[in-house]
Amino acid sequence: MHEPQQHFAEQGGQDTDTDVDVDVDVVVVGAGGAGLAAALAATDGGASAVVLEKEERPGGNTAASTGSVPGAGSRWQSDAGIDDSPERLTTDLLRQSGPHDAEDLVRILAEASAPLVEWLVDSHAVDLRLITDYKHVGHSVPRLHAPPSRKGHALIADLLRAAKAADVEVLTHSPVDRLVVEDGAVRGVVVSGGRSGTYTLRCRAVVLAANGFGADPELIARFAPQASGLEYLGAHGSTGEAVRWLLDLGASMGNEAAFQGYAAVASPHGSITSWTTVEHGGFLVDGNGRRIGDESAGYSGFAAEVARAEGPVHVVFDAGIRDSVAAHEEEFADLLAAGGVKEAADAAALAGILGVDAAELARTLDTVEAAASGTATDPFGRTDWGRGPLTAPYAVVKAVPALFHTQGGVQVDEHARVLGPAGPLSGVYATGGVAAGVSGRSGGSGYSSGNGLLSALGLGMLAGGHAAAHPA
Ligand SMILES: Cc1cc2nc3c(=O)[nH]c(=O)nc-3n(C[C@H](O)[C@H](O)[C@H](O)COP(=O)(O)OP(=O)(O)OC[C@H]3O[C@@H](n4cnc5c(N)ncnc54)[C@H](O)[C@@H]3O)c2cc1C
Repeated sequence: MHEPQQHFAEQGGQDTDTDVDVDVDVVVVGAGGAGLAAALAATDGGASAVVLEKEERPGGNTAASTGSVPGAGSRWQSDAGIDDSPERLTTDLLRQSGPHDAEDLVRILAEASAPLVEWLVDSHAVDLRLITDYKHVGHSVPRLHAPPSRKGHALIADLLRAAKAADVEVLTHSPVDRLVVEDGAVRGVVVSGGRSGTYTLRCRAVVLAANGFGADPELIARFAPQASGLEYLGAHGSTGEAVRWLLDLGASMGNEAAFQGYAAVASPHGSITSWTTVEHGGFLVDGNGRRIGDESAGYSGFAAEVARAEGPVHVVFDAGIRDSVAAHEEEFADLLAAGGVKEAADAAALAGILGVDAAELARTLDTVEAAASGTATDPFGRTDWGRGPLTAPYAVVKAVPALFHTQGGVQVDEHARVLGPAGPLSGVYATGGVAAGVSGRSGGSGYSSGNGLLSALGLGMLAGGHAAAHPA
């Protein structure tokens, strides 16, 4: 990774207000998972690639994620005896999302998913392992592959190592301000406002991997108003400028009102309360000690219900679930070590921690126990209670709902080329949060686990490969 001045000094260029004639085929905007995957695919395809990152460090939302990527039909699934296929992933994702504007992309990414994971592991030594110890929202079989730590930082560290090995320049402090467009084709970018003044980079093709617009309240209000009430907890860099440039060029938007929410960010710690605690049998209560709804909507779909609930909201599970999740998920273990998970010896102690009426909470616990043991129907309709009824001691986390990232963006084709009404725009590719996602048309309930990184890394791989072959 280089500072831009160092890089251009090496290239013999000047660093302010000048066109820099760098011998590069592909310029990638954004050094998250999508951008680094695109750069690796471009160099695999024989092209040279530069990645421009506006922040001090690479990583973006990818670093904040759990790094979980679906790979349907991967060889690790075969080794584990899991019968999976792109068709099955397509069916699962469309079941969760409902009809939307980018259904062709679901099939394209499902086909690409296992080759993507195998390419990252085999060709670029990215450490991803099949997760079999818990279920994931929207998936009928275990198919997510993640770093052993389940931390996106590890994924980014591996991708940066691979980029270095592939001679990809990753330039931080390099905000791209606009695209260079000549005769209707994108021919480069203008970098401005970073540590190296203003300069232009020319290339054969630009890959926009700058993520979506979660950090831009104006675009949220315009495109995804349902997310307006949620606090944005993703990376600062997702301010939507790439989407704006492409709209100015006439790109078509798709699924622009969709997003990934999270129902249970630990408060005040700011890390996620693993949804596995809920899938194993936990539930959420409001400030009166009453359940909020059917938690099977998933961590994203349930965020809007939590936002509507009277707070403070808590996630309730038990010490057995706490310990097993902490054993597998480093972020949750960190939350536990930081005191973010409280323990209650019995129902009365739990009521004390929640600050609710003990009799009201007892009624909630009785109803949950009856539903989880199958002796009564859950009033909210939940049928899957994971390990069954909770047993004291209880564990509890105070939680707030959040917006993690937007899932809408510009429409792309099977090469990740940006589409306008008359077909692909020339010289520009979009990946990850810049592109229309596969999580439904609107709201947070169409999001399946791994959809963010599937479109980031999957489209990144496709975009980089095709950008490498883009004619000069
Ligand atoms: C807490 C959390 C957990 C998540 N967990 C998962 C998960 O386990 N699995 C999953 O699939 N998804 C998950 N997601 C979503 C996932 O992180 C994103 O969908 C994915 O990382 C997007 O990747 P990206 O490369 O498109 O964007 P990013 O990783 O955000 O990278 C974009 C980069 O572009 C840079 N950039 C933006 N504009 C410019 C500009 N003008 N010039 C230069 N650089 C620019 C940004 O600074 C940023 O570094 C999670 C998200 C969060 C917040």
